[in-house]
Amino acid sequence: MSDRWDYDNMFIDGAWTADDTVGVIKVIDPATEEAIGSVPEAGLKATRAAIAAARRAFDDGPWPRTSPRDRAKVLRRFAAILDERHNFLKKLVMAESGSVGFLADIIQVRGTIDIAEWIAEAMELAVRWTEVSPPAGGPTGMAGHVVVREPVGVVAAITPFNFPFFLNIVKVLPALAAGCTVVLKPHQWTPLDAFEIAKAAQDADLPPGVLNVIAGGPEVGAEMTTHPLVDMVTFTGSTTTGRAIMAAAAPTVKRLQLELGGKSASIVLDDVPEDHVANMGIITSMIHAGQGCAIQTRMLLPEHLLDAYVDGAKRSASSLKVGDPRESDTLIGPLIRERQRARVEAYVQSGLDEGAELVFGGKRPAHLAKGFFYEPTLFVNARNDMRIAREEIFGPVLTVITYKTEEEAIRIANDSIYGLGGGVITGNTARGFNVARQIRAGNVSVQTVGPPTVNVEALGSSGPGWSADQPNGVGITGVFGGFKQSGIGREWGHHGIEEFTELKSIAWS
Ligand code: NAD
Repeated sequence: MSDRWDYDNMFIDGAWTADDTVGVIKVIDPATEEAIGSVPEAGLKATRAAIAAARRAFDDGPWPRTSPRDRAKVLRRFAAILDERHNFLKKLVMAESGSVGFLADIIQVRGTIDIAEWIAEAMELAVRWTEVSPPAGGPTGMAGHVVVREPVGVVAAITPFNFPFFLNIVKVLPALAAGCTVVLKPHQWTPLDAFEIAKAAQDADLPPGVLNVIAGGPEVGAEMTTHPLVDMVTFTGSTTTGRAIMAAAAPTVKRLQLELGGKSASIVLDDVPEDHVANMGIITSMIHAGQGCAIQTRMLLPEHLLDAYVDGAKRSASSLKVGDPRESDTLIGPLIRERQRARVEAYVQSGLDEGAELVFGGKRPAHLAKGFFYEPTLFVNARNDMRIAREEIFGPVLTVITYKTEEEAIRIANDSIYGLGGGVITGNTARGFNVARQIRAGNVSVQTVGPPTVNVEALGSSGPGWSADQPNGVGITGVFGGFKQSGIGREWGHHGIEEFTELKSIAWS
């Protein structure tokens, strides 16, 4: 008998309630297909009650009027409570999202709790809440102005299934830090951890209505994005849903923060020696079964390195253990649902139909009868006009395209509707930075093979989210978000808090 997490009530206006629920959402573990818990499904009436509670808490409650310093104290308490429950949360998140253990440690849970602490630090140290111009003498006496940051208002937060706890926290806490009030709706497949976030909010003494947590599918999301009492939507999910939300939010001109899909490219430069090329991008593109928005799923390889790459990749394929995420040597867990696995299969078939060469994978693992597993899959000799190179697969599939010149590689990397992530692998860090600057994406990594040729320490945090003492790259200065159709706005660090503020200028004379 596996663990179960059942929640009978939603969290609205500081209280647990089942009023106006319309059903029960059953949650399954994608690795075992067994039921692991349930949450109540909100109807439209309950959704409106949550929005109204957030509105009252914003208009009449203390939270938006509390000083940033005092809000930071509450957020620190919030983070400390999550920290105390860390082991419990890790078990829950691994079961609901199919995450392997090391990923739960780096980002899904442990890393997320670190981020919760950094948000409190960033709001105190890095956000400029007021900017005062020195008063100047004028014909009527002294004059001047002050620019202040004020909270946007009521925020609707809507999240996807792949990194549920992480994405719930990086939306909710920055919004709270700014003084906003929030209605959180997690994905219907992974709603459990959001109810634990609600419990932590209550235990941290957040005032009633400041955070409300409800569960439901697209209809609930649609109500949240059209409702006139909502001022801002922060959304992470597919570009298709992002477009629908943008249209839905237009009549009431809501502020938008959209973190959408990607088809990120890594460029291997021609200065990488043949004996270093073997495993490149294999593990990083298959991580979380490929269910990551900024995963570099297109690899651009110089023609002369292809044979060495294929030989090395074939050798490394056997070390990519697919299986139960709870086994410590598992690298690749399941896809979230059968529907997603069928989608990956359709993309793999399209790759074959369009003439790409399958090196390994391309099927379900024979040894796993239960769970939505799929083998790590590598295509080479692909072209950038194939569907496997243009569309987001969201599965463990890497597509390799060869190129002749650096200019061609940059052009192919940028030939995409998306602009979320990117990478450069090089033997020369300075050259890598130069190429990184030409990739039209919000988050680019430079990986130097061999000893660095410039002093990377001296570059400080100028790399994308890079920081020496913060291995997952978030910290108080890291930033994350997309160019082009990968989104609008930025998350993480002080930028992520400032997204939830309006600038107001107050002049005096
Ligand atoms: P999705 O768009 O299907 O669903 C995301 C959320 O939107 C869910 O909570 C869903 O219930 C809700 N929703 C669906 N239709 C809606 C509507 N019409 N109005 C309002 N809400 C609606 O995305 P998904 O399949 O859960 O997640 C995978 C996608 O998320 C991928 O495209 C991935 O790249 C993207 N993603 C982006 C980032 C990022 O930071 N850029 C991070 C993680 C995932």
